[in-house]
Amino acid sequence: MNILVINAGSSSLKYQLFDMDTQSIVAKGLCERIGIDGKFTYKPQVEGKEAINAIDIPMPTHNEAIQAVLKALVDEKNGVLKSMSEIDAVGHRVLHGGQKFTKSMLVDDTVLAAIEECIPLGPLHNPANLMGIRACAEVMPGVPQVTVFDTAFHQTMPKSSYIYAIPYEYYEKYSVRRYGFHGTSHRYVSAQAIELLGGKAEGTKVITCHLGNGSSLAAVKDGKCFDTSMGLTPLEGVPMGTRSGSMDPAIVEFIANKEGISTSETLTMLNKKSGVLGISGVSSDFRDLDSAAAQGNERAELALEIFAYDVKKYIGSYVAAMNGVDAIVFTAGLGENSAEMRERITNGLDYLGIEIDKEKNAVRGTVDITGKNSKVKVFVIPTNEELVIAMDTQEIVNNLKK
Ligand code: ADP
Repeated sequence: MNILVINAGSSSLKYQLFDMDTQSIVAKGLCERIGIDGKFTYKPQVEGKEAINAIDIPMPTHNEAIQAVLKALVDEKNGVLKSMSEIDAVGHRVLHGGQKFTKSMLVDDTVLAAIEECIPLGPLHNPANLMGIRACAEVMPGVPQVTVFDTAFHQTMPKSSYIYAIPYEYYEKYSVRRYGFHGTSHRYVSAQAIELLGGKAEGTKVITCHLGNGSSLAAVKDGKCFDTSMGLTPLEGVPMGTRSGSMDPAIVEFIANKEGISTSETLTMLNKKSGVLGISGVSSDFRDLDSAAAQGNERAELALEIFAYDVKKYIGSYVAAMNGVDAIVFTAGLGENSAEMRERITNGLDYLGIEIDKEKNAVRGTVDITGKNSKVKVFVIPTNEELVIAMDTQEIVNNLKK
């Protein structure tokens, strides 16, 4: 079975074609600057086939982007499929499923309407995700489409984890509550950790740290999400590349007044110019911060320290919330690749029984980095959100056939 996985943004569309018999990627790429001038990249993962590197293709809408993807996939010389009919299904990443979706869904009119209803909760992403789905429906009519929501895994949280301490009517009237994001990643890596712990979800307590450009943590009890650090939007939680993470909400009005800017401009600042970029003034990329800190840049060092400190505080609070922890998991760009950051975060958690083996931690690709005296397992598990989307899509499509 061939499944095309689509991650549509407002002006971009990432794609991966999976052969599900081998669970391998056959081709992948990126459409950028949709609605602007259109840049197209195609990378077949098959020997003898040539890549297309960021060439200009006019893509006024997502439709042309999908058409360009299909054209490349079936290209006589460098394509990986004989015809479009070899694509059995399409899986879409959708940011916000609100309270409506607790699992992945087969796309129909009701699902489309519900994603549309969630636009106020995900104003930047949901419209783009819808454009991607609609473009596929138009360009590949009759091919089943599945949506996989970033929020779905977190829908098992108890009310005490997701209700904010503001007038309850805002939850009732506007569904203001914690939703959480990166759910596909937290689901995947927590399930992998449970396998490593013996395979039985019941009774397990896992803390997953998805640390990338966007970062979030989740407390996963009995294989289900119990709490997570992101909130109504991805702005809450630990500081990120450019997002502030949690802070005193009064800062919003204070800065808006001082700078003479609107609330929405202040929020843009909190989303785009804050986090480790804001603290350091150097970069949102942790690799740049590492080199700047190594050269004595104090604010880069401060940014790294604040990030590690906040992640550590979340770990501590989730240990308390679940009354224990069996495994801590590090994943995503930073979590998977930065031994230094894993060391900073776990340093001084020995009171909680959490210690890493510094040598194992330094060897790239080591999954179990648990220290000799650690009571808690510490794992580095590469996330694979696209594969999970493809697997969910395959399962739903297979069920259709039954
Ligand atoms: P996104 O949230 O955009 O999906 P990723 O999960 O790909 O991001 O993570 C990207 C981030 O991971 C980069 O901003 C970079 O700071 C960090 N990163 C990747 N590799 C390393 C590394 N070897 N050392 C430190 N940071 C790294």
